[in-house]
Amino acid sequence: MKPKRKFTKDFYEIQRQQWQKSLFLLLILFVFYFFLAGFVAFVFLVSIGMLVPGFSLFTGGTWNDFLLVNLIVSLSIAAFHFYDARYHGARFIRKRLSAESPDTDDVYHKRFINTVDEMRIAAGLPKVTPYIISAFAINSMALMEADKSPSIIVTEGLLAEFTREELQAVIAHELAHIIRGDTFYITLVCSLANSFERLRQMSEPQEATQGQIGEVQESAGGNPLVYAATSISSVLMHLLSTLISRQRELMADATAVELNRNPSALARAVYKAHVSNSFIGDFSLSYSPLFIVPPRSKNISDGLLSRIFNSHPPLMKRVRHLAEMVPASPKKIIDDVLEIRKKREKARFVLHSKEETTTGEKKAVDSRDAVQPKEEGVWCVRNPKGKWIGPFTLEKLLSLRFFTSRIWTKNIQEGIEATAGEFPQIRTGLRNLYQKKPVNPKRYNKCPRCRTLLIDIFYEGVAIKSCPSCGGKLVDSALIGRIIARREVAFSDYLVEKAAGFRENFLENPAGMRKINKEKSQDIYCPLCGSRMQPRPFTYHYIVPINKCFWCHKTWFDTDELEVLQLLIELR
Ligand SMILES: [Zn+2]
Ligand SMILES: [Zn+2]
Repeated sequence: MKPKRKFTKDFYEIQRQQWQKSLFLLLILFVFYFFLAGFVAFVFLVSIGMLVPGFSLFTGGTWNDFLLVNLIVSLSIAAFHFYDARYHGARFIRKRLSAESPDTDDVYHKRFINTVDEMRIAAGLPKVTPYIISAFAINSMALMEADKSPSIIVTEGLLAEFTREELQAVIAHELAHIIRGDTFYITLVCSLANSFERLRQMSEPQEATQGQIGEVQESAGGNPLVYAATSISSVLMHLLSTLISRQRELMADATAVELNRNPSALARAVYKAHVSNSFIGDFSLSYSPLFIVPPRSKNISDGLLSRIFNSHPPLMKRVRHLAEMVPASPKKIIDDVLEIRKKREKARFVLHSKEETTTGEKKAVDSRDAVQPKEEGVWCVRNPKGKWIGPFTLEKLLSLRFFTSRIWTKNIQEGIEATAGEFPQIRTGLRNLYQKKPVNPKRYNKCPRCRTLLIDIFYEGVAIKSCPSCGGKLVDSALIGRIIARREVAFSDYLVEKAAGFRENFLENPAGMRKINKEKSQDIYCPLCGSRMQPRPFTYHYIVPINKCFWCHKTWFDTDELEVLQLLIELR
């Protein structure tokens, strides 16, 4: 209980100190604007003085007025800037990094929420909000929000790569920053830099600022004066954060160990984040001091120059400090990282293809040629050119581009011709579609290939729907990245072979690709909302053919397709 009380007391004490520190920042801002605004006005007035005879800045009264106006102007700009940074900064940073609230249906996210909660209670903090950046990179940061409550942000890649102990260690490190008050100060400094950036964005032409968050928004246009001013001030902010940043990381590491008593896990975490990709986007560089490791950690040498200009202490210095607390040698830490990686690799659950049976013989199960209860189309329709086409199934009929309830239709089974709207079956089907249900409600939640009832499972910690008979998978399109980032399942030799075959036959062979596209041409309909799923390649790099529902944002993977995709990316 003792350490808890100690931290709680420290926390409020440190907050008070932080307030004093931030007043110091306000003063620096004021001085900065005083000289900047003063210089600009001075140049302006002097040039007027050259044009207008009799006007001089250097007659007593004018000079005093000039100073007074400059004082008021720069004080107001500084105050406004400070206020903007304090109350909009953290949210803006989160938005730029696309940090979002964790998904409570996700195993990894849930573990993150729980770990943050456990550790925040142990540290005696009233509220800490967790956020996740959906990036493969490994990094973390803490922010101080406008309501004075802190938040902790980690990347998806970190959640996938780190063991429970390492995750705890990282959270302890971020909590240490919060408790020590670094978070308050650094959030403020980075937010001040933010305001300049936003100003620069605003001064740029509209299209440039319309870009998506996360895109690099570099543009030569805009007001050169604003551009120059913001560039100078960006450098100033960068220096402000760099000066205090390096010692701060070592101190936070030490406090984290006090909180969590696991220096080796933190050493491993820092090492792993450093040597893997920790880069989140160009814009993340201006937030460098906020992160646990610098976003460009891979390219940083331990040389003299980098020692002066980097926001973080060199990797091996941090690892050495932490290793001393274990005590162990830094080499032991690195060996442990490799050892744990090997162990995790071995612990992966080996996934077999539906095509492999226990006896080892290959059974052809492929959702694409699954024996679908053959459904004869009975609907013919007159297309806009007046030609009869069909027969179609009801689902296909309703998904025709030119379909309206006024169109002339024939039911070849009953031998009736009428406008589509006159058939009760069509009206019911349309109503279901409008209500975002499958045309035939009995197909709700059933495999679009073999009509087996889909079951809810966790795959790589992600909640998905899977067909127990053909192995097809329905995944929320936004969550595919998580599945790719995680390494819980391993793949049978058969699947590895299949992926290799796929690469040879299709990725390196456009003709084969066309063939597979043709195979996929059979229409399937979203088992949740009934709209026709569009066949698409996964990405331009990985042209694994998948089917997408653009209405409810689901992706259908046929037998082994998701596994093949994971393998192709894993073995790239
Ligand atoms: Zn199926
Ligand atoms: Zn859908």
